[in-house]
Amino acid sequence: MNANPIRHIVIAGGGTAGWMTAAALSKFCARTGVKITLIESEAIGTVGVGEATIPPISKFNTHLGIDENAFVRETQATFKLGIEFVDWGALGDRYFHPFGSFGFDLEGIEFHHFWSRLAAMGEAKSLEDYSLNTLAAYAGKFLRPEESHGPVMNKLAYAFHFDASLYAAYLRRIAESQKVERVEGLIEHVEQDSETGLISAVTLQDDRHITADFFVDCTGFRGLLIEGAYAAGYNDWSRWLPVNRAVAAACKGSGSLNPYTRSTARTAGWQWRIPLQHRVGNGHVYCDAYMDSDTAEQQLLEKLEGEPISSPNHLRFMTGHRRKFWAGNCVAIGLSGGFLEPLESTSIHLIQAGISKLISLFPNTTDSPIERDEYNRLMTDDYEHIRDFLILHYKATTRSDAPFWEYVRTMDVPDSFTNKMELLKNAGRFFRYDAELFDLPSWLAVAQGQGWGPQGYNPMANMLSEDNLRQSVANMSGVLAKTEQAMPTHEAFIERFCKAAPVAMETK
Ligand SMILES: Cc1cc2nc3c(=O)[nH]c(=O)nc-3n(C[C@H](O)[C@H](O)[C@H](O)COP(=O)(O)OP(=O)(O)OC[C@H]3O[C@@H](n4cnc5c(N)ncnc54)[C@H](O)[C@@H]3O)c2cc1C
Repeated sequence: MNANPIRHIVIAGGGTAGWMTAAALSKFCARTGVKITLIESEAIGTVGVGEATIPPISKFNTHLGIDENAFVRETQATFKLGIEFVDWGALGDRYFHPFGSFGFDLEGIEFHHFWSRLAAMGEAKSLEDYSLNTLAAYAGKFLRPEESHGPVMNKLAYAFHFDASLYAAYLRRIAESQKVERVEGLIEHVEQDSETGLISAVTLQDDRHITADFFVDCTGFRGLLIEGAYAAGYNDWSRWLPVNRAVAAACKGSGSLNPYTRSTARTAGWQWRIPLQHRVGNGHVYCDAYMDSDTAEQQLLEKLEGEPISSPNHLRFMTGHRRKFWAGNCVAIGLSGGFLEPLESTSIHLIQAGISKLISLFPNTTDSPIERDEYNRLMTDDYEHIRDFLILHYKATTRSDAPFWEYVRTMDVPDSFTNKMELLKNAGRFFRYDAELFDLPSWLAVAQGQGWGPQGYNPMANMLSEDNLRQSVANMSGVLAKTEQAMPTHEAFIERFCKAAPVAMETK
């Protein structure tokens, strides 16, 4: 057991993960006298994608004291109310996975049980009509909820689409103002203490030698430290989440600034559309066992709504995670720790989750096995819970028009997924395990949207008379619609509070 306190942290890598980690850790470390150095290499660059987020990112920004309007302006961001899924359950289908919840609980029983009962009576509108996020998204509306807006408006939950490289640059300014030292250079060697196995230093290509007590590996997919020094190993989940390639390209926008991401299923994967203020991000995510890269690129470019403004960027990945996120005195955060394909925009969130757990479990000494084991347990849980939610999108399909869909529709799934789905499908029951990220509204939205919605409901929902039920649900629907109608358009909101400076775009 090594009992040295931590006085110097090296963050290897300066992508979104590196700068998020630097900005967050330096907020605390600057006051405790712990020095932070971030090493990055322009020669390697960043992965260059990652534009859609989920609501907890607001918390991260708030902790850093970031003004939201300034952040939106600086990163060319737009607001995101959820994801529209096209052609997933069946060709021609369309549904919305909103942030926020459906309806209002009645007497402590969740709304969807009453909705299911009304549906069984043949009188329910679509579940989506009871989601403020969905109503606002399809009407192109946005308003930032404030306490004074009252409880209905406060049901609106939102995240952002943003330019990830601008976000990293923004965080870099914050981190450097909090005394993080940035070193430009290519890490070539990782040195370990021959007795303890702990990392003692990294050596750069130009022979600079940088020692530290603790290392955060943010070097992206390569996992230079966690894999290079510790051979942490990888849990490969491709049998459940088989997409493993992507091609991304930005284009000019064609008009309206939708406050949502669109995900359209394709023959061997799916395509994203993410509107930013200055451009639209697009990407085709696919499985190379069912499609080659030329076809994927061609299909992406054919579907662009405007002139391309970046050359197609091809990426490879393997869905899964390192067996150990934290080994010795090194924690892997970001793509170095793992990657769940981008379907529900969870990667930046997993960076945030890794950082907040590291802060909670910040070690007293360089070798802290108790904290390390707990960190690994918690992060593994986070990944497994998200994995199961992603599997739902593929498994709950009736598509058999292409071998890829035939595979995912009929594949074996983890027991944890089956148990959860049986409860939900049977009578709409859902339990959130171990602070898992996606809650009932998310599972319900995707299951219902893809034809796996609850077949029954909790009999406690029979406590209301039929008339009372009709009246309560109709009132709810009226209040939600009125709230949506009073909201400004997404464009008007941005124009008023957080319009970014225009950027000259060259077409490719
Ligand atoms: C197709 C695709 C779509 C995605 N979409 C989303 C999305 O919508 N939402 C979302 O939340 N996430 C998304 N992600 C994930 C997101 O892009 C990443 O989580 C995020 O960019 C963080 O990446 P990173 O910082 O871990 O790695 P990288 O961006 O790869 O950064 C690695 C850093 O390490 C440095 N480095 C590497 N090796 C060395 C070395 N030897 N010496 C010095 N420096 C080195 C590099 O210079 C760079 O600074 C997507 C990912 C992919 C592949």
